[in-house]
Amino acid sequence: MSGLEGGGRRALVVGLGLSGTSAALLLSARGWEVVAIDSGRRSAPELISQGVEVRAPWSEPVPGIDLVVKSPGVPGKSAPVASARAHGVPIWSEVELAARATKNPLLAITGTNGKTTTTELTAHLLRAGGLCARACGNQGTPVSGLVDELEEGEWLVVETSSFQLEDIVEFHPRAAALLNVTPDHLDRHADLAAYVASKLRIFENMTGDDLAIAPEGLEATTAGAVVRRLSDGSGPGVAAWDAAGSLHLPERGEVCRWSDVALRGAHNRQNMMVAAALAAHAGVSSDHIAEGLASFPGVRHRLEECGVAREVLFVNDSKATNPAAAIAALGAYGSDVRLIAGGRAKGTAFDELARAARRGVLSAYLIGEAAGDLEAAFGSEGVPAERCGDLPTAVASAVRAARAGEVILLAPACASFDQFSSFEERGDAFCRLAARHGAVDPGGT
Ligand code: ADP
Repeated sequence: MSGLEGGGRRALVVGLGLSGTSAALLLSARGWEVVAIDSGRRSAPELISQGVEVRAPWSEPVPGIDLVVKSPGVPGKSAPVASARAHGVPIWSEVELAARATKNPLLAITGTNGKTTTTELTAHLLRAGGLCARACGNQGTPVSGLVDELEEGEWLVVETSSFQLEDIVEFHPRAAALLNVTPDHLDRHADLAAYVASKLRIFENMTGDDLAIAPEGLEATTAGAVVRRLSDGSGPGVAAWDAAGSLHLPERGEVCRWSDVALRGAHNRQNMMVAAALAAHAGVSSDHIAEGLASFPGVRHRLEECGVAREVLFVNDSKATNPAAAIAALGAYGSDVRLIAGGRAKGTAFDELARAARRGVLSAYLIGEAAGDLEAAFGSEGVPAERCGDLPTAVASAVRAARAGEVILLAPACASFDQFSSFEERGDAFCRLAARHGAVDPGGT
């Protein structure tokens, strides 16, 4: 299928979240006849007023369709999608659609953890270099909603999830990075191999001078672009940290010093390596990259230091929704940590987290559905753990036990949906509880 002008053709948008809604509006603006469906009951006045036919709730196949745009939350085997596929109808993700609707340059970032931080940081570095740039995609701003309001030459730094990459066809960023792959979303992907394969698709259309960044040891196939390796940062690769704490880019030398940035943890050193390499590829000077790295404040709910009370630091890492992210958070705070973990598990094991906890967790305070599994894992590593049920109880318990110099860290290793509507709501609740226990902004007066 070439071109995005609909000319009366009929598109089906499946899933009416943020990205589905944006996709439906974009298609309608491009002259498609659009049917938008959702398995739940949704009112969508903004779509109906633009002539989109909305059917929700709906799970039946819709006949007479030329294109399906599938939202990331919709399983590929859901009835309307499976039926379209069986009839040979193209199925695109919302980023595929959006990328076809713009000539603006794209940078793309995927990975199990670190996507939002690296996406926001990369856009920040581009802006520090005087370029026009927007962070968008999976972090909450659908690309489809932006394509008709971009400045000429404006860069789109697109956070892409495995669910979006599953349904790309021509998506072709000028530079792209796969940060890491660890078990996650195994409730949705057939297995780990399928999850890895969907992430690697980010590179499949990249050619010529495009910059493809992939972790060591993962076979990445491009359409001609050279793959540069992302290591732990100690050796040669896409970037490296030297023993004195300086970040180096190949052919550029030293760019900045770790002591000048606000981000913490080895994982953020990696995120910085990637963001700096992507910004350099977009033409940002080393001085501007250094300025941008130094002025980046971090992203809310990711190792957010939300307050100090009686010399106890409260850290909100609510976005640590899988064990690898929680392990990264523990690595950033070393020892003397009181860890609050739990929530809804996503089919991942907790034994590695428990092993990491042995190194610095004084005690764990467990909440939500996964508390029993976490308790068993921590117990087998000899890490003290207490079942607290809910977050207020866990915070109160951790506060009672904490001594000056310790850290109360919310890094749940689980999704929030058993007790909260989102990781943001969970993080906000933690910060409010911290304040209720007397915590004040560490940077405040
Ligand atoms: P994503 O968008 O992929 O979920 P975020 O930047 O929102 O990534 O970070 C999610 C969590 O993962 C954070 O809580 C943080 O502790 C952790 N994290 C961030 N970057 C990395 C990384 N490179 N490797 C491992 N964990 C990371």
